[in-house]
Amino acid sequence: MNWCFHCYAVNRDPSGPCVHCGAPIESPAGLSYDQQLIWTLDHPDGDRALTAARILGSLRSRDASPALREAVIAGRDPFLAAEALRSLIAIDGVERWRPWLEQLAAEDVSFMVSDVARRALHPQH
Ligand SMILES: [Zn+2]
Repeated sequence: MNWCFHCYAVNRDPSGPCVHCGAPIESPAGLSYDQQLIWTLDHPDGDRALTAARILGSLRSRDASPALREAVIAGRDPFLAAEALRSLIAIDGVERWRPWLEQLAAEDVSFMVSDVARRALHPQH
């Protein structure tokens, strides 16, 4: 399948204007691996997004930090949000996000996200 770089609509052709938004569906030339993974965080295919979140964390990609935080806040998919938070902590460390993590740990927005935040704040448990 061919996903539009701009709006993620599925297109029949691998190049040319998107059937949904009209922009060229190809990704811009010279996109780095990290940038491709950041793009994939918003992918409609949740498995792809989840894998991208995991890899960005293992790469310690600092460029991905804002996009990962966005994925946690958006909460579109609790599995993705939890994985994005795990990666964000791996990249930036607990101290950088402590007040926010405390907030996430206290809130019951998503059990999976709260759980990741609690484990990061209290690794002994
Ligand atoms: Zn499009």
